[in-house]
Amino acid sequence: MSIVEIVEKYYLGTIKKNVFFKDITTLKVGGKIKYYFQPNSFESLKKFLRLKGEVSIFIIGNGSNILASDDEYDGVVIDLSKIPTSINHIDDFFYVTANCHVASVVNYAVNKGYSGLEFLATIPAQIGGAVYMNAGAYKGEISDAFYMCECLTKNGDTVYLSKEEMMFAYRNSVLHEKEYIIINIVFKLKKSKIFAMKKLIKRRKKRNKKEKPLEFPNAGSVFKNSESYSAWKLIDSAGLREYRVNDAGISEKHANFIINCGNARAIDVKILIDFIIEKVYEKHKIKLKVEWVFVNWSD
Ligand SMILES: Cc1cc2nc3c(=O)[nH]c(=O)nc-3n(C[C@H](O)[C@H](O)[C@H](O)COP(=O)(O)OP(=O)(O)OC[C@H]3O[C@@H](n4cnc5c(N)ncnc54)[C@H](O)[C@@H]3O)c2cc1C
Repeated sequence: MSIVEIVEKYYLGTIKKNVFFKDITTLKVGGKIKYYFQPNSFESLKKFLRLKGEVSIFIIGNGSNILASDDEYDGVVIDLSKIPTSINHIDDFFYVTANCHVASVVNYAVNKGYSGLEFLATIPAQIGGAVYMNAGAYKGEISDAFYMCECLTKNGDTVYLSKEEMMFAYRNSVLHEKEYIIINIVFKLKKSKIFAMKKLIKRRKKRNKKEKPLEFPNAGSVFKNSESYSAWKLIDSAGLREYRVNDAGISEKHANFIINCGNARAIDVKILIDFIIEKVYEKHKIKLKVEWVFVNWSD
């Protein structure tokens, strides 16, 4: 059975053939996707994984940390956003489906008077993507609040991972090596004052708007920081602020952001990234490491 037949025969969701990565990523670049699958439930996703055979799959969250190449992706991109979301809690344990937008999870927890996820309020992600990346800001990381998660393997088997098994590190988790799909997450939060949390979030959102080029398509910070340097300072002092490769440019507001000034292609962004790495190395003898996930690049 073909991929389309599997989805249609078992009513597993919708499958589209004319979707491009540039339509589904925040940077708005990237080529055509052979099959774009939106399952209607986690059960349907499981059935699909069991039946799909050897075809490659890529799971997309909110597409806010991805650089997909301009080439056609010869596989199935799976988008969980059409599956109904759920957020619940029993005391300080919070149970969320991986396809929830982080803002809904943060709002839910804060309104119930629980702290631990406020730092996520300025991150435009799905909570599953944030766990995969161990997203962080304001000295907090998602691993601080993470308790456990339920995943599906690429063959549809269920696996549970504890915090230790996730092997969280800076913008990293064990999922970068394993091809698991997170479907449910449990966080352990702490009681706190609702008013103080809301005030903090409001202040950070204001600061975020001022400091980051949110008016242009972007995919967040390009390079990892370290304890000994801030990537933006190295890029800035290498004289690269506002440098452009066609429509891909280094933001004037924040030198660790690459923005799409119009019709940038993925290759423009990739050339710009390689150029920054080279120039920063020449000036500071430091090799910057990219934070983004590269999808469908041959090297
Ligand atoms: C304006 C802006 C500001 C940002 N600020 C921050 C910040 O302050 N801190 C920070 O850490 N990041 C930041 N980011 C980057 C980005 O939002 C985070 O890395 C986020 O965690 C990515 O989530 P996503 O849902 O968009 O994942 P995607 O970009 O869609 O995917 C990223 C990776 O996660 C995997 N993935 C997604 N969902 C699942 C799932 N359910 N199961 C398994 N794997 C999955 C994908 O396969 C991919 O490998 C920012 C981005 C933007 C555009």
